[in-house]
Amino acid sequence: MGYARSAPWLPGLADRVADSQVARWDEAMPYVPTGHATAVQRYRDRLPAASPVLLAGDYLGFPWSDSAAFNGRWAADRLIADHAG
Ligand SMILES: Cc1cc2nc3c(=O)[nH]c(=O)nc-3n(C[C@H](O)[C@H](O)[C@H](O)COP(=O)(O)OP(=O)(O)OC[C@H]3O[C@@H](n4cnc5c(N)ncnc54)[C@H](O)[C@@H]3O)c2cc1C
Repeated sequence: MGYARSAPWLPGLADRVADSQVARWDEAMPYVPTGHATAVQRYRDRLPAASPVLLAGDYLGFPWSDSAAFNGRWAADRLIADHAG
């Protein structure tokens, strides 16, 4: 997408990008290895209360932006819960 076309959604971006490259893959699908969800749940179950560091990002779920948002929300909720009151 040309940066000028993205201006309504990302104001100011077109003026700040010096260079870019677009690559299009005809056939590609991200995946996660078997056992990934179990490992993520184990991490969450063992996370110390009020931990100063929380992991967040799409890699904790499936590599899509929905997962990034979901896991970011999880981390934010956890921080708020740990530091409330
Ligand atoms: C080619 C491609 C096509 C995609 N298409 C789609 C799509 O159509 N729909 C969709 O929903 N999702 C798509 N995705 C996936 C989507 O882009 C990701 O799921 C989403 O961007 C993940 O967000 P995130 O915040 O978890 O991680 P990121 O967006 O990767 O952000 C992580 C940030 O952390 C920074 N960082 C890393 N290490 C360090 C460090 N040590 N110190 C400081 N900063 C660091 C990185 O520079 C980066 O800015 C696509 C991804 C790719 C690569």
